[in-house]
Amino acid sequence: MIPPSILDRRRLMLGSAGLGLLGLGGCATTSAGAPALAPSSVPFAEQYPPIRPLHARMDRVFDITVCLRPFRAQGPRIEAETVGDTLVVHNYGHGGSGWSLSWGSGTLAVRKAMAGSPREIAVVGCGAIGLSSAILAQEAGARVSVYAKDLLPDARSARATGSWTPDSRIALTDKAGAQFPVQWEEMARISFKRFRRYLGLADSPVEWSDRYFLSDPPNEPEPARAGPELDFASYIDRIRDLTPRAEILPAGASPFPGAGVRRTSQMQFNVADYGHTLMADFLARGGHIEHREFQSLADLATLKEKVVINCPGYGARALCRDESIVPVRGQIAWLIPQPEVNYGVYYKDVSMLSRRDGIVVQALWGGDMFGYGNDQEVVDRAEAEKAVKTLAELYGRMKPV
Ligand SMILES: Cc1cc2nc3c(=O)[nH]c(=O)nc-3n(C[C@H](O)[C@H](O)[C@H](O)COP(=O)(O)OP(=O)(O)OC[C@H]3O[C@@H](n4cnc5c(N)ncnc54)[C@H](O)[C@@H]3O)c2cc1C
Repeated sequence: MIPPSILDRRRLMLGSAGLGLLGLGGCATTSAGAPALAPSSVPFAEQYPPIRPLHARMDRVFDITVCLRPFRAQGPRIEAETVGDTLVVHNYGHGGSGWSLSWGSGTLAVRKAMAGSPREIAVVGCGAIGLSSAILAQEAGARVSVYAKDLLPDARSARATGSWTPDSRIALTDKAGAQFPVQWEEMARISFKRFRRYLGLADSPVEWSDRYFLSDPPNEPEPARAGPELDFASYIDRIRDLTPRAEILPAGASPFPGAGVRRTSQMQFNVADYGHTLMADFLARGGHIEHREFQSLADLATLKEKVVINCPGYGARALCRDESIVPVRGQIAWLIPQPEVNYGVYYKDVSMLSRRDGIVVQALWGGDMFGYGNDQEVVDRAEAEKAVKTLAELYGRMKPV
């Protein structure tokens, strides 16, 4: 049997984990001194835009944020229960895939919530899942109020990488039910289609970008893995038709060192603008937002709305006393934006994604297990320094091609 760590690697190599592949620039001669390839060295059809250097320095880190992925071994909880006289439809536990699956998951939850055609719906939570569920409930014809302790950009969702990663830490292969892969595919396809609406807008809430995955040096031993590894589910092959496959770049076609350079294109969410757009869309449709904290599930039955879509994310552990939610800690060091760096890189278990609102640098030592079971939402500066240093070492070895 192939060890999960190798499977993780393989998923990255194929571009499925969304952690970012690294990319290249097999490019022709450019103006402004950009790295360029001699036109004869790389076939025209293999040429790509130039790779501009990342300024990977700690003095350019303007923030370090920490967030907990709400992971459930069996996959997200999307089911209805009755609490007193209230129908509560749960929609939580999306691991590292909450942004990516938000519209599909919201669609399933809203179907359940609208079964009795209620005129009013309450949504608990104002993160990726709550806001998308709320907008979908409006579209289904309900008057919607959102109740939440924290609103975006203060909700945890604002501290995510912002990549199309629909099966990142979404379930464990042997714990998800037999029907879950089918449900996952439906959610992923609905979401993917919906993001189409946010492409090409003025402030690029959603856009496509190149990702490069570097395996350099190719024979370096696997980094030490902390503790036992779990078999995180991989469903990406079910939706292979949606996104391009990773391609191996011809040797010398990019300024990245080593021969193992793979490139693909992926959707990214510029979360600052995308979150703002969702809030504006919800309010423009007559939505109402109220700051409120609930102590228990029974509290939800005190709301005037008798149908509630419950989207508390990691908060479900306390609110619903649901210990199936496991925290998976993730930290981001934010580098000052560099608009000319329009790609993402994955190198030595460090992921970099250039977003409009900052350059996301994240350590993933040990792959999907990194941060598993860790609920410490405190900044670890040494972790950030090591991740930035890894990228500095990479860019220090690069040369214009
Ligand atoms: C480092 C990191 C990187 C990630 N990268 C990606 C990525 O690239 N792509 C991707 O798709 N996903 C990514 N994720 C996962 C994604 O961020 C989560 O799956 C998603 O944010 C979950 O959204 P949510 O709305 O369920 O939770 P949250 O954003 O936590 O929202 C929960 C809401 O419920 C409210 N709430 C909770 N409890 C209560 C209560 N008791 N009373 C009232 N209100 C309450 C909160 O205030 C908040 O408004 C990443 C996560 C991390 C940590």
